[in-house]
Amino acid sequence: MSTTRYRTIRIKNADNNTTTGQLHITHYSQSERTSRALKMLALMWLLAIITVFIPLAHFVLVPAFLIAGPVIAYKRYQMEEHPSNADGECPTCKQPSSIQLEPSDTLPMWTYCSANNDPVQLLDDPQGTTNTTPA
Ligand SMILES: [Zn+2]
Repeated sequence: MSTTRYRTIRIKNADNNTTTGQLHITHYSQSERTSRALKMLALMWLLAIITVFIPLAHFVLVPAFLIAGPVIAYKRYQMEEHPSNADGECPTCKQPSSIQLEPSDTLPMWTYCSANNDPVQLLDDPQGTTNTTPA
């Protein structure tokens, strides 16, 4: 089962006002990483089999999916953890904000607060610690 870890982060706006927030990080165990990778490999190779029946396009799609399968599966296997979302008070509008993050997102990054779309920057807190329970 995947576990969630929490890390303290700082949320900053363009006027240098800062609030404290929490980054939710999804962490995968060894067996989960393997099963996630195998599922992706199966999906890509299934798409390769399906696209065999598409005239002309199959000259490109079938080898593309056959090659993409192991490549994407390997990347998934390598991914031990990824950010899922960031919670905290927006430094501009003072509203509680929960920002959804992409697995490829890394801090520091600019994004928008979920309440009023204010531009905010998510930063690592130098004194921040990673916990398995919310702070
Ligand atoms: Zn805001």
